[in-house]
Amino acid sequence: MLHLSRLVYALFVLLSFHRHRGGASAFTPQEEEQIERFQRYLRIRTAHPDPDYAAAAAFLLAEARSIGLRAVVLEFAPGKPLILLSWPGSNTSLPSLLLNSHIDSVPAEPSRWLHPPFAAVRDAAGRIFARGAQDDKCIAVQYLEALRNLKDSGFTPLRSIHVSLVPDEEIGGADGAAKFSASEQFRELNVGFVLDEGQASPTDEFRVFYADRSPWSLIVRAVGAPGHGSRMYDGGAMENLMDCVEAVAKFRESQFDQVKYGSKANSEVISVNPVYMKAGTPSPTGFVMNMQPSEAEVGFDLRLPPTADIDLLKKRISEEWAPTIKNMTHQLIQKGPTRDNKGRPLATPTDDSNPWWSAFKQAILASGGKLAKPEILSSTTDARFMRQMGIPTLGFSPMANTPILLHDHNEFLKDSVFLRGIKVYEHVIGDLCSLPETSL
Ligand SMILES: [Zn+2]
Repeated sequence: MLHLSRLVYALFVLLSFHRHRGGASAFTPQEEEQIERFQRYLRIRTAHPDPDYAAAAAFLLAEARSIGLRAVVLEFAPGKPLILLSWPGSNTSLPSLLLNSHIDSVPAEPSRWLHPPFAAVRDAAGRIFARGAQDDKCIAVQYLEALRNLKDSGFTPLRSIHVSLVPDEEIGGADGAAKFSASEQFRELNVGFVLDEGQASPTDEFRVFYADRSPWSLIVRAVGAPGHGSRMYDGGAMENLMDCVEAVAKFRESQFDQVKYGSKANSEVISVNPVYMKAGTPSPTGFVMNMQPSEAEVGFDLRLPPTADIDLLKKRISEEWAPTIKNMTHQLIQKGPTRDNKGRPLATPTDDSNPWWSAFKQAILASGGKLAKPEILSSTTDARFMRQMGIPTLGFSPMANTPILLHDHNEFLKDSVFLRGIKVYEHVIGDLCSLPETSL
């Protein structure tokens, strides 16, 4: 296996060498080098369950050295390095800019891919196939290459620029961004604004996310008198649990209708979906069929937008979905915060009340890009930890005209899209770290 993969790799290197030597490339030698550095980072296997953080750290530190950035390795959990890079501004007392990207990625099933998921094959159309190509190794390399270009151009930032490359985002971020954002080292950075990952856009407009939905798990358990399968009586565990499922289904419909009829986006409503049900009395051939069980359980996945009325939802759960008078109990697992350290919803203002937003928007326009209407992300990222600290944070990955392939088979990013993203970040980083003191 090892020899075969080496052979395939050698063949690939040979082929790509020919392609470039043949002069078919539309890019400059510097741009080709940027693409190669992206491919090198993609070839480091940082997929779960066993991400090679050491190799990724070595790569990132070498890059930082070649650019001339200050580098510190923080370790909030053993074997899980967090790389913090800095370019001090001319006025280090001003709130700084932080660019965040996670090092890890979800696993991949090689048999379902056109090209091996860790080979970073670049096909004739310029598509670079790799796990992490979109989510989110692209932005890490784009940040660094934008900083390299800014340095080479003689640019001097007013505000300090920091880049955090964090472990474990894909498994919840507990040993990564969660501990980092709560640390003394983070406080010392005096971060005023964060850019974190976004998502690809199939249109020519870049997408930008000002909030994440907050994930909750809800487990409802019902108990009741067992009985013969033939008897109809009140208060059975299954009967009560079915009432719960019905009530939840009705609520789900009220939310989903708003999406179906176009009044709200998918990420602007509370989603709730049953994910498991557990009941019945096992028998050697399956389940006992003439007996109503005394216990039943159902699990739901809930996602709450920052606008959701949390107290109302909790009341609904305890009074309508799992009322104790019907012998039901429930367990609510709130994964992550829903309010920041000042009690505000975890949403970053996207209007001119937020000078960081205004500067970001202007920079995108100046780069020749178009921006879609700001969105709430359906899922969750590390951005929530930064927002929890009360710091305005936008989710943004400059990938226009690109199918959304995060966590999917055949994840890819086109070389030209990758390179354009570097230019976009040059504008965005350049403008954000030049934001004058008086505008904040
Ligand atoms: Zn991601």
